[in-house]
Amino acid sequence: MSDRNRVSADLAKLPDLIVSWYRENRRTLPWREEVSPYRTLLSEIMLQQTRVEAVKPYFERFLAAFPDVATLADADDELLNKRWEGLGYYSRARNLKKCAREIVDRFGGVIPSTLPELLSLPGIGPYTAGAIAAFAYGRPVAAVDGNVLRVTARITAETGDVLSPAVKAKLTDLVSSLVPADAASDFGQGLIELGALVCLPNRPPKCDVCPVRDLCQGHAKGIADQLPVRIKKTERKLDRRTVLVIRSGTRTLLHKRPARGLLAGLWEFPNYSGGFTEKEALDAVKALGFEPLRVRPLDPAKHLFTHIEWRMTGCLVLVAEPDFPLPEGYVMPETDDLLSRYAIPSAFAAYVRYLSAPLP
Ligand code: SF4
Repeated sequence: MSDRNRVSADLAKLPDLIVSWYRENRRTLPWREEVSPYRTLLSEIMLQQTRVEAVKPYFERFLAAFPDVATLADADDELLNKRWEGLGYYSRARNLKKCAREIVDRFGGVIPSTLPELLSLPGIGPYTAGAIAAFAYGRPVAAVDGNVLRVTARITAETGDVLSPAVKAKLTDLVSSLVPADAASDFGQGLIELGALVCLPNRPPKCDVCPVRDLCQGHAKGIADQLPVRIKKTERKLDRRTVLVIRSGTRTLLHKRPARGLLAGLWEFPNYSGGFTEKEALDAVKALGFEPLRVRPLDPAKHLFTHIEWRMTGCLVLVAEPDFPLPEGYVMPETDDLLSRYAIPSAFAAYVRYLSAPLP
């Protein structure tokens, strides 16, 4: 048998090995205990760019507030953001609501099961569409995420750039050709689970306990820990900002961000481009109409977005009780009210602790 035919024959064994391993070793996760298209949609959107452990508590909390597609379609935006607070990448929450609305309008409230229909919905890309079709409906389609790309690149000793469309398509075609018709969900989730538990990212894979070691080309060639190859093109843009925590008694000033763009529609502490001196910070406070009484510099913080890195410095400024209407887009709630009703993105998490910090 030629090398090529032997590799194909070996790969034909992959589905059974993955499915059996997954059935014995899968983790207990909230979205796996009871499977429905809505639960799969929700969990997959939450899991984008977010670790499983971080998603777990949010999943049930979100489901309690929005138990089905119809409730999510009519969700109050403030409550939606509040239930998403801390998960980051808030555009996912907005797209989820848009998606739910389209499911109600175009599909009578029933999440569709085919890839073309799923892909026509906002916020649903090829992986999420494959996950809903395979995991929730059992359709024999591939769901290829970063875990699956890594695992399959190692199994096939793929040395091309897995971020390139050509290599992605090649590995996706391979997975698609292997999906077993009677176990599409366990195969798809099994590949992902293997990537999460055994064929680890950014660390040496645990080949000694891997169920597919005997057919893994990366392992056989001794190059598994150098795979996958990823050629990154974008660097994050550095954005220096000054964050002002402006307090009057137990009230703190918040500003609503514009409806479009980064962190759209969320609440923030007033913040400005550049690193302000104390005088510049006080000038900004006066420009908002406030009379500063005391000021204290705050520790620097940073936050990484996909394409931007915020390097923040901050000031806590105590101001006189405002006797004028607040500028448009600003509110000044009491601390308890602020924490329970206003969604503040995690980019500002380092400054939330100053809501009740003492001033000199
Ligand atoms: Fe990954 Fe090693 Fe298993 Fe190959 S043998 S799939 S490299 S863990």
